Amino acid sequence: MLQDANLPSDIQFRILGEVDRSEVELVLLGIHLFDEFRKSLDVPERPVPLVIHMDSDLDRIVLHNQRRYGWPIDTMRKYWEDRWIANDKNEFMIHALEPGEQPGSRSSERGIGSIAHDLVHAALQHGLLGISTDPKAFERYKGIDEPRWLSEGMATLMHTMIVAEERGITYSDARIHWVSFTKDADIPLRDAEIHPANQPSGVILRYDRRQIIDCTYRCGALAAELLASHVGLSKLSNYWMELETRMVPLRVQGDRGWTEAFERAYGMTVEEFYELFEEHRAAGFPEMDIGQ
Ligand SMILES: [Zn+2]
Repeated sequence: MLQDANLPSDIQFRILGEVDRSEVELVLLGIHLFDEFRKSLDVPERPVPLVIHMDSDLDRIVLHNQRRYGWPIDTMRKYWEDRWIANDKNEFMIHALEPGEQPGSRSSERGIGSIAHDLVHAALQHGLLGISTDPKAFERYKGIDEPRWLSEGMATLMHTMIVAEERGITYSDARIHWVSFTKDADIPLRDAEIHPANQPSGVILRYDRRQIIDCTYRCGALAAELLASHVGLSKLSNYWMELETRMVPLRVQGDRGWTEAFERAYGMTVEEFYELFEEHRAAGFPEMDIGQ
């Protein structure tokens, strides 16, 4: 185990197995960038440290998740081999990075982005939902069929800001690729609520699966930007606060109970928001003041 003296006091970083020093440095950089960024968010102090595991042994991570959550080994292995970093919903686990992912190389931009992205998920979804303190919270959270564009869009918006800072580019430049993709894709935001693989059988998808997944992140980031322009960036996390307060009743109300948390958090219904988003698309996604 390694406890870097410079790490924030509420983050623990543990290393298992043989992990390359340059990979460790990449993760530490991601943590520090995230720590700087989260000061701009309205996230309450974490009562229990966020534990980050970095493990060179993929089998050990797969087994851990299988035992803990019963996730299927084959699916997990495929996911991990592709991404080499993931959040296990209670602790944050990092598989050793691919060879060649050296800090400073072009591909390390993706590395930092991925690390920052999952740290944002960890802080928002899991920190705010109290999962580190309450083992039952994860069980409740698993049952909420929340829109993927909302959680992925927020994480993408925030990780892009962190990466832009690191690369010394402006936010305007960083958001250009979301805008061009979203204009061309023309997929309604509501169609990115569910991962194509999780659609009930019999549903015929109107769009290419890959396009839907890309839209989840990029249309989602523009949607998060639009929401932030209404409530301020620091209040984007309101949704998770509402979700935590409403979690048990939400389960009883059924799959779309998250819409109530959305309305309380942002002062408009999801339907109103979808309409607003499409108007915003028609206007060419002018950059919004997100109240940083
Ligand atoms: Zn994500």
